[in-house]
Amino acid sequence: MKHSIFDVIVVGGGHAGTEAAHAAARMGVKTALLTLHRRDIGVMSCNPAIGGLGKGHLVREIDALDGVMGRVADKAGIQFRLLNRRKGPAVQGPRAQADRAIYRTEMLKLTEAQENLQIVEGEAVDFLMSDNCINGVVLSDGAEIHGRKIILTSGTFLRGVIHIGDISRPGGRMGDRPSVKLAERMDDFEVPFGRLKTGTPPRLDGRTIDWSGLDLQPGDDDPTLFSFLNNRISAPQVSCGITHTNERTHDIIQKNLSRSAMYGGHIDGVGPRYCPSIEDKVVRFSDKSSHQIFLEPEGATDHTIYPNGISTSLPEDVQEDYVHSIFGLENAVILQPGYAIEYDYVDPRSLSLDLSLRGVEGLYLAGQINGTTGYEEAAAQGMVAGLNAAASCLDKEPVNFSRSNSYIGVMIDDLTTNGVTEPYRMFTSRAEFRLSLRADNADQRLTPISISLGCCSQERKEKFLSKMDQLGSTKYALESSKYTPKQLLSAGIKVSQDGNRRTGMDVLAFPDVTFETLAPLITGLDQTKPEIRRQVERDALYATYIERQKREIDAMKRDEGHVIPVDFDFSSISGLSNELKTKLCVTKPHDLAQAARIDGMTPAGLALILARLRRDT
Ligand code: FAD
Repeated sequence: MKHSIFDVIVVGGGHAGTEAAHAAARMGVKTALLTLHRRDIGVMSCNPAIGGLGKGHLVREIDALDGVMGRVADKAGIQFRLLNRRKGPAVQGPRAQADRAIYRTEMLKLTEAQENLQIVEGEAVDFLMSDNCINGVVLSDGAEIHGRKIILTSGTFLRGVIHIGDISRPGGRMGDRPSVKLAERMDDFEVPFGRLKTGTPPRLDGRTIDWSGLDLQPGDDDPTLFSFLNNRISAPQVSCGITHTNERTHDIIQKNLSRSAMYGGHIDGVGPRYCPSIEDKVVRFSDKSSHQIFLEPEGATDHTIYPNGISTSLPEDVQEDYVHSIFGLENAVILQPGYAIEYDYVDPRSLSLDLSLRGVEGLYLAGQINGTTGYEEAAAQGMVAGLNAAASCLDKEPVNFSRSNSYIGVMIDDLTTNGVTEPYRMFTSRAEFRLSLRADNADQRLTPISISLGCCSQERKEKFLSKMDQLGSTKYALESSKYTPKQLLSAGIKVSQDGNRRTGMDVLAFPDVTFETLAPLITGLDQTKPEIRRQVERDALYATYIERQKREIDAMKRDEGHVIPVDFDFSSISGLSNELKTKLCVTKPHDLAQAARIDGMTPAGLALILARLRRDT
C-alpha cells in the first residue's frame, strides 16, 4: 500500500464515509475508503433504525442523488412505519427498524461492487502536506496514501472517551480505540474544536424478556420504502414491544444521580436535547411518573433488544436495578451496558458550503465530526463532501444545495451559518419551505442534479425519466380538462355552485376527492399506474401553497442571492456593530441570504453589506 495514489481519500467507513466514497466514485474519480477495519463499514453505533421525522426526508434525498443509504435500509428493514401518517405528506417521515447484520453486509457488498472505489484498512494518524495543502494521509504502520482531496469522517472517534458511571476510558465507541493522533495533528491547523457527548442504552437479551403482557407494535401493512428504485421488502418483518418506566425506576435513578457520569461531573461535553438520557428525563420531567420504552429487535434472527428511551451513563449495577424494575424486564439479562461518549467536534462555521475546511486546502469534513448526531445527517453530509471533493478534482463547479431545494441544503446552511450548541439533528420544523421539500418528491427535486452531474445510474435515470413522463402527461390531461360545478356534482363531487369552471388538478386538491373519483370524467386516465395517481394527488394538494412558496423563494433569491466574495472585508464596513462584524468574519457567509440568517443580523446591517457589495462589484 506504499505510495498509492488516489483522487479522493475518505477517512472513516461509517455513514458519512460510505456515502462520501460512493458519491466521489460515482462522479468517476479514483477513490479510497480508508477505515480502521473492513467490518466497520455500515456499522450502526447506536439504534438499529434509519429514518424518522426529518431524517426520513434526508434518506429520500440521498437516494434521489443515487446514494446508498436508502437502498441498503430497504434491504435491511424489518419493521417499516410511516411516522405522522395522519398528518399531511409534507411532515410524514418514513422510518425502518433495521437488521444490523444485514445492513452491514449489504453496505459492504455495494461498496465492494462500486467502480472506482477501493477499501483500505488502516488508521490515519497524520496528513501529508505541501505548503498549506493536504495531499495524503499517513497510516499508523507508516504507509502513505496520496490523494488530491481528503474527506475526514471520523465520527465520535476524535479524542473519544467512554463513560460508565465513574469509570472512564478512551474509546471511539464500544470496542474501538479513539483517534487521538489525528486530533492532535489537527490542532496544528488551529481547527476550532469543541466537545460534545451522546449516550446509548444497555442492550438486552430478548429471550429473557417477558413479552406476554407487553403491547406489540407491528409495522405498516403497506410499507413505505426509502429508495425510489424499490417497491418491495426482502427481510422478514418483526414487531417492536412497548413498556414503560415507573416510579420505582425513577426512584432508583434519582438516588444514584451522583454516580451517573453525566450528573457526577465526569463529562463536560453538551448532549443532544432531543435524545435525552433516562437520567435527564427523570430530572427534567420530574412531574412525569412514567416514560415510554420501545423494545426494538436488532435483527430478525438476533436476540439482542435495543430499549429505545433509556440511554444512560449510570454504573452497571444501577443499570441492572432500574432495568429490572420495568414491567416485562424483571429478569432481563443485560448483554452490553449503556454508556456515554464524549468526543471532539469541529465548529462547522469553519467550513464552506462544500464542507471544505477553510484555511487548509484539500480537506473536507463530514458527519458527526461537524457537530451533528444521527446516521442520516452524517450520510447527507457525506454526499455533499463526496460530490464536491470529486467535482473539485474534475475542475467542475462546486455542488451547492440550498434551503429551497432540500433538507440537505437546510442542514448545510444551518451548520455553516450558525454552528451548533448541542448535537444537531434534523427536524421538519427546520425547513421553512417544507411544503415543497416533501419526502415523496425528493426525486423530482434532486435526481435532475444527479443526472446533470453524471453520477446517476442508468437504471435510476431511466426510471426517473419514465416517471416524469407519466406524471407530465397525467397532469397535462388534468390541467386541460375543465368542469362546471354541475358536471362535478353529477360525478358526486360536492362543490360550490358558483358557475366557475375548475381544472382536474384544482378538483384533485379538494379534501376527499381522489384520482379514482375524478378518473371517469377524463378519458384515457384509467390506465394510470397507482404510484402516479398517488403522486399527482399529493402534487395537486400542495400546488397552490407551492406556487406561493415559489414566489417567496424567487423574491428571496432576487434580494439575497448576492454572492459575497471570500475575501470580503466585513470589518471595514462602518455602521455595523462590532459583534456583527466578528460574527460575519467568523462565519464568512457565502451570500446575503446566509448573512441574513446570522444570529442578531438586522435589516439595517444587511442594507450596509448590500451597499458595500454593490460598490465593490
Ligand atoms: P461513525 O459512524 O462513527 O463512523 C466513523 C468511522 O471512522 C468508523 O468507521 C471508524 O472506524 C472510522 N475512523 C475513525 N478514526 C479513524 C482513523 N483515524 N482512521 C481510519 N478510520 C477512522 N445518533 C442518533 O441519531 N441518536 C442517538 O441516540 C445516538 N446515540 C449514539 C450513541 C453512541 C454511544 C454513539 C457512539 C453514537 C450515537 N449516535 C446517535 C450517533 C450515530 O452513531 C452517529 O451520528 C453516526 O454514526 C455518525 O456517522 P459518522 O459517519 O459521522 O461516524
